Amino acid sequence: MLKVITFGPPNAGKGTQAQKLSERYGIPQIATGDLLREAVARQTPLGAEIKSYLDSGRLGPDDLIVQLISDRVSKSDCACGYILDGFPRTMGQAQELDKMTEVDVVLNIVVDMEELVGRAIGRRTCGQCAAVYHVSFNPPKAPGVCDRCGSGLIQRDDDRENTVRNRLRIYTEQTAPLLEHFRRKGNLVDIDGSKGIDGVFDQMVEAIENVRA
Ligand code: AMP
Repeated sequence: MLKVITFGPPNAGKGTQAQKLSERYGIPQIATGDLLREAVARQTPLGAEIKSYLDSGRLGPDDLIVQLISDRVSKSDCACGYILDGFPRTMGQAQELDKMTEVDVVLNIVVDMEELVGRAIGRRTCGQCAAVYHVSFNPPKAPGVCDRCGSGLIQRDDDRENTVRNRLRIYTEQTAPLLEHFRRKGNLVDIDGSKGIDGVFDQMVEAIENVRA
């Protein structure tokens, strides 16, 4: 059993790393943002309600997000654990998670905020399988085409500069305070986010191996 949180500001690389950790450890990546975008794409009533949050970068309501996560982690593919990517993001969500389960380690990606704006603007995602690329730092083999499934790559609306800056401000105000909560619980590990995708990944694997030892 292994339960991990990838934590950090928007565009710090939580999703990229969660995807790699999922492959390494054979446990699912649970990305709240992806679950929300799927609901929007399926045009469910829930999707209609959350579309405005996604477009503006504001955080969705805690009760809805917690429900989404608790449904997801109760599925059979989570029996050996999971990687939470983008959850929790508020103190309310962190408290609900504490009632639900204990996670083994919170991997906090520490990175300069301005660098994050550049990363977001170059990010491309697969419309089909949600794989994540960057035009400079992690390009697909053929421009605009997903290596994994061959579908077209898109720029997410929430990767536009204004939205990115807004999300960074929301992170600072609402999500960064959780660091103190995790630090008190004793399961927070700081990861140097400036080391490139493989360098960050190696630090994460080391941190996971340390808590499992
Ligand atoms: P992400 O793909 O993780 O960057 O999330 C994209 C957007 O989904 C965020 O800007 C929020 O509007 C929403 N979202 C994702 N995770 C959460 C969460 N844990 N709580 C509230 N809103 C969230």
